[in-house]
Amino acid sequence: MEFDLIERVHSHCAHRRGDVALGIGDDAALLDVPAGQQLVACTDTLVAGVHFPDHTAPEDIGWKSLAVNLSDLAAMGAQSAWALLALTLPDADAAFVERFAKGFADLAQAHGVALVGGDTTQGPLSVTVTALGWVPRDLALTRTGARAGDAVFVTGTLGNAAGALRLFLPPQAGTAAIHGKELHGAEGGGGLLRTRLNRPEPRITAGLALRGIASACIDVSDGLLADLGHVCAASKVAAEINADALPISSALAASFDAKTCRELALSGGDDYELCFTAPSARETEVVEKLARTGCGATRIGRVVAGSGVRALDANANEIEIGHVGWEHFS
Ligand code: ADP
Ligand code: MG
Repeated sequence: MEFDLIERVHSHCAHRRGDVALGIGDDAALLDVPAGQQLVACTDTLVAGVHFPDHTAPEDIGWKSLAVNLSDLAAMGAQSAWALLALTLPDADAAFVERFAKGFADLAQAHGVALVGGDTTQGPLSVTVTALGWVPRDLALTRTGARAGDAVFVTGTLGNAAGALRLFLPPQAGTAAIHGKELHGAEGGGGLLRTRLNRPEPRITAGLALRGIASACIDVSDGLLADLGHVCAASKVAAEINADALPISSALAASFDAKTCRELALSGGDDYELCFTAPSARETEVVEKLARTGCGATRIGRVVAGSGVRALDANANEIEIGHVGWEHFS
């Protein structure tokens, strides 16, 4: 039965690459890293009821388990290449595996990623994906290079995934209290927000475009304030965000008042956009280059000396963010 499940996953994830010398079927995969490149490796686990609500569509779990990892590769400026999939299932549910593999394969195909191995075990539903890629030696984007005077940018729009959770889960719900909610399919104005929650788009092409331009980069998984805070701590600098400059989607603006949109954009997690810094003088170049990658980029603030991240309103007063912990799903 285990081999049957592996075969189902394998047959869906049909993308093959010439640099896979040996893929699924042996004790480990053999992969050819191009000369002059550094291997970039990351892994992330999604646990049912913690990282996604129970009753999330299996296709969406498959997509998202790969997406959160490709997002980490994107934040490093890496070219994605391979993935491994460790799947823990309560039972040998072939229908679940088929649907899961379909969502996983859709995103893998879109980014040319080959599934080269994994593990299949029994237990409470949990998915661990390892993503592998490469970057030319010394060109990786890290968290440590932000300098006072740099501008702060973000790709796409922020707050959509947190907006979807707020629309579709009762406000007092913690992650343990969200059983029985159907969280897939579009309905009303929340369709786009829900898609952003369940099917985040890893910004791989944006990350590639930022090689040699961005001084630091991170993907927004825990919320802008938290993740930009990691960059500031690693780079030993501070950042000021201009709250009025935050990019808000029309779907989010149609669902919440302006103050709530701003809070969701500042502290809502699960967006998987890239937040990065670059020299101010290169703003036009950054904006034009990222417009060509499809997601676009918006200048949202600046790096200054000191520590911590502050969000400022139009009068330069600091914005206090209320507790929005349950949106983080962490
Ligand atoms: P082993 O006991 O040596 O770990 P397994 O039976 O676990 O071997 O796996 C056999 C092959 O199938 C290996 O190549 C492994 O990488 C692959 N594999 C197992 N589970 C998965 C999965 N969920 N997705 C992709 N490949 C898998
Ligand atoms: Mg194994």
